Amino acid sequence: MAQADVSTISTTCSSVKLAEICDDEGTNITRICCQRCPSLVLSPKQAKLVKKEFFLPNMFQKNDHTPLEGVTLNDFWLVTNMMTFDNVGFSKAVDKIMYLICADCEMGPIGWHSVDNKKAYYIAVDRVKHG
Ligand SMILES: [Zn+2]
Repeated sequence: MAQADVSTISTTCSSVKLAEICDDEGTNITRICCQRCPSLVLSPKQAKLVKKEFFLPNMFQKNDHTPLEGVTLNDFWLVTNMMTFDNVGFSKAVDKIMYLICADCEMGPIGWHSVDNKKAYYIAVDRVKHG
C-alpha cells in the first residue's frame, strides 16, 4: 500500500481562515499554490469561493490507485475557464469526474471537474496553500 503515508496528509491542513484568503465578494486575494511544491495553481483575483459539498479521495500521486477513503469538503475555489489556471494537471475521467492535480509534482486531487460542465473547475481550499 504505497499510498498509505500520503493519504493521511489531507486531513491535517483544514485550518484555513476563509476571511484571510478572500475579499468581500469571495474572490481570492492570495496566490494559490501546491502544498507540496512551489507550483503556482492560481494567481490572485482569479477564483471565487463557493460552498459545495463534494467527496474527494485522499491525496495520492498520479500513478497510484485512487484511494477509496476520502473526505467530504465544503469550501472550494470556483474557476470558470481552464485558461485561468497558472498550472494545473488532470487525472483521467472516472464517472465523468476529472480530478485536478498539481502540474509539477502530480499530487492530488486538489480539486475536481465534471466533464458535463465545461465552465466549472473546483479547487479545494483545504488542499492548497494560500499566500
Ligand atoms: Zn506540486
